[in-house]
Amino acid sequence: MSAEQRTPNEDSAQGVTDQEKTSQGSLARQRYDWLTAELARHNRLYHEQDAPEIADHEYDALAREARALEAGHPDWLTQATSPAQAVGGAPSSAFAAVNHPTPMTSLDNVFGDDELRGFQEKLARSLNIAPDAADFAYTCELKIDGLSVNLYYIDGELQWAATRGNGLTGEIVTAQVLTIAGLPQKLEGLKGELEVRGEVYLSREEFAAYNERAEELGSAPLKNPRNGAAGALRQKDPELTRSRNLSAILYALGKRDGVPVQTQWEVLEWLREKGFPVSEYSRHVRGIDEAVQYHADLLAVRGDLPFDVDGTVIKLDDLNLQAESGFTSRAPKWAIAYKFPVEEAQTVLESISINVGRTGKLAPLAHLSPRLIEGSTVSKATLHNEDFIRDLDLHVGDTVIVRKAGGVIPEIVRVLPELRPEGAGPYRFPDHCPICDFPAVREEGDANRYCTNPACPAKLYEGLRYFVSRGALDIRGIGEKLTRQLLEAGLVKDAADFYQLTAEQLANLERGGDKKAANILAQLEDSKAKPLWRLINALGMSGVGDRNAKALARAFGSLSALEAATPEQIEAVPGLGGVLAHSVSAELGSERLQGLIAKLRAAGLGQQVSEAESRTAQLAGLNFVLTGSLSRPRDVLKAALEARGARVTGSVTGKTSYLVAGEDAGSKLTRAQELGLPVLDEAALAALLSELGAPLLD
Ligand SMILES: [Zn+2]
Repeated sequence: MSAEQRTPNEDSAQGVTDQEKTSQGSLARQRYDWLTAELARHNRLYHEQDAPEIADHEYDALAREARALEAGHPDWLTQATSPAQAVGGAPSSAFAAVNHPTPMTSLDNVFGDDELRGFQEKLARSLNIAPDAADFAYTCELKIDGLSVNLYYIDGELQWAATRGNGLTGEIVTAQVLTIAGLPQKLEGLKGELEVRGEVYLSREEFAAYNERAEELGSAPLKNPRNGAAGALRQKDPELTRSRNLSAILYALGKRDGVPVQTQWEVLEWLREKGFPVSEYSRHVRGIDEAVQYHADLLAVRGDLPFDVDGTVIKLDDLNLQAESGFTSRAPKWAIAYKFPVEEAQTVLESISINVGRTGKLAPLAHLSPRLIEGSTVSKATLHNEDFIRDLDLHVGDTVIVRKAGGVIPEIVRVLPELRPEGAGPYRFPDHCPICDFPAVREEGDANRYCTNPACPAKLYEGLRYFVSRGALDIRGIGEKLTRQLLEAGLVKDAADFYQLTAEQLANLERGGDKKAANILAQLEDSKAKPLWRLINALGMSGVGDRNAKALARAFGSLSALEAATPEQIEAVPGLGGVLAHSVSAELGSERLQGLIAKLRAAGLGQQVSEAESRTAQLAGLNFVLTGSLSRPRDVLKAALEARGARVTGSVTGKTSYLVAGEDAGSKLTRAQELGLPVLDEAALAALLSELGAPLLD
C-alpha cells in the first residue's frame, strides 16, 4: 500500500516512522483542503443556486471522506469552516431571513443493515443501555426528496413559513408555502409557540408535466423534482409557485408548547388530527429488525410511489429518550436516514435517432443496449438537444451511465470516455431535416434546430396527429394509420381537410366500413363545438400547449379577438413571456395559419367563445392591503382592485396576499415584513396586474 492510499486513521498505527507521518499528513491535508473547498462549492450550488453538479450520494461520499479525515485530525476541524459539518448553505438573499426558534438539524446517513444496527448500538450507549439489551420502539418514515420547511405559529396563528437554509437561519416563504393545499393558518386552542416541520415536494406527476411543458417551450427542463420544488418555493410571485402545484408532508415539531405528545408516533397522529398532510407510509415498529424490514419493504415499492424518495428515516419513538440521547455536533443521535442505493446502470449508446415534430423541431433520442433499472427495462433516453449532446461529449458506441431522473425518465448522466471504442467520432448533429433534407436551422437563443421546409411531410403528419390529440380537439376515431392513409391518398393536406371527408372516402380506407366512418364523421361534427382552448391548441403553434392555449382562450375569449391582439396584449397574458408572445403573434399572422383558420371557419369551427371566467375575476381570491401615501387616491385603487375581484382589507394578517406600500408606510409595512408577505410599490402593483391579465387603466 502506498502512502497516498493510506487512510489518515492509519497515521496513528504502530510502526509508522515520523518522516512517513509527516508526508502522509501533508498528503492527507492536501486532500482534506481539496475536499472542503469542493464541498463548499457543491453546498453553494445545491442550497443557494439550486443547480447541483453531482448527485446526493456522490456528495455524501465526499462528506464522509472529509469527516473521516477530521476524525483523525481533530485539530484541522473548525466548526465554522468545515462544510462536511455544515447542515446546508447560507440562505440566499432574495428573501427575508429568519432564525428558526429551534435549529433544523440534518440527519446522519447509513447505507446498509449493519450500519443501521450500528446506529442502535451507539444510541443505546448514549442512553447508558447495554447494546444487546436495547429494545426501542421506532417510528419509520419515508425520506421524501424535497425541501424542508418550518412553519412557526404563536397562539395557533401562523406567523411565517421558512426554508431550512443553513439549519439556523432560513428564508421566509410564507406566501409561497401557503399555495400548498391543506396547510392550516390557524390552529384552535393552542397557546404559546409551535414549530411544524416537513418537506415540500414536487410529485412525479407534476415534475413530468413541468418537463413536458419545458420541452414544448424549448426551455430548460428540471433536473429532478427536488430542484423543481426549490425553484417553485423561490418564486417571488406566489402565483407562479401556485402554478407548480407543490405538495407537502409534515412530520415533526420543533417548539411544541402545550402539545400533548410523548412519542414521535403521537406527533404524527396529532398533526393528522390538526389537518396537516401527513404520510400514509409511516409505521410504528419495535426493535431494529422491524426497521430493517420497513426499509426493505419500501425499497421494493419505491418506483411506484407518487414522489421521489431517497431513503427511510428511523426515529427513536420516545420523545423523552430522544432528549436524553441528545445530539452530535451536527445531527441528532436518536434518528438516522437509511439511504436507498442509487440505481444507475452502465450501458452502451447504440445509436441516436432524430424525430421531427409538428413544429419541425429535431428531437434527438438515444437508443441504448437494454438494461433493467428500478424494475423496468430502459432502452431509450432523451437527449434534449444539440447542446446537451455536445456537453456530454457523446460518441456513438460510448459506454454511458444511465439513471432514471426523478425515478421516472431515463437520462444519460455521463460518459465513460476510457471505454470509448477506437475510431468513434463525436456525434455530429444534423443540419438538414432527416425526413425531407431541407436545411435545419437554429435561431440565436434557441437550443433547438428546426426544419425550414413549410411542407415537410414529418411536420404535416405530426401536425395532423396533434390536431386530433387528446389535449387538442380529441378526435379519437382518427388514428395513426388512418392519418397516414389519408395523407398518402392525398385526401388530407391540412387539418381543415378532415372536415371535407365523406363517409364513402372513409369507408373505403377504414376496415369496419360504414359504421366506423359514421362514427368518425360524428366526432368531427362534435369537435366544432369544443371549448375554444382546444381549437387554439390544435392550431399547433410553437410553444403553445394546452396550458398556454387555456390562458389565451381565457384572456381573449374568441379566436377572432386572439387574431386581432397585438404582441403586447398577448404578452400581458399570464404565463406568456415576450418571446413567446411575439412568436404566437407572428405565427397567427403567417400564411399557413391564416389559410388554415379560414378553411376551418368555412367548415364551421372558430365560433366558440370562451365561457371561462371573465376578466373581472382575474384577482379573485387575492387580498390586498393599501398603506402609505400613494399617487392615486386610495379609494380609486381600492375600487380598481375590487372591480377585478380582489378583496381590499384594512389590516395585515397571514391571509393578506400583498401589501401595497407608498411613501411613509408605517406599522403595516413592518407587520408585513415580519410575516414575510410580498410588498409592492405602485409600479410593481401595475406590473403584477398586467401580468395577471388585468392591467390598471390610468
Ligand atoms: Zn423536414
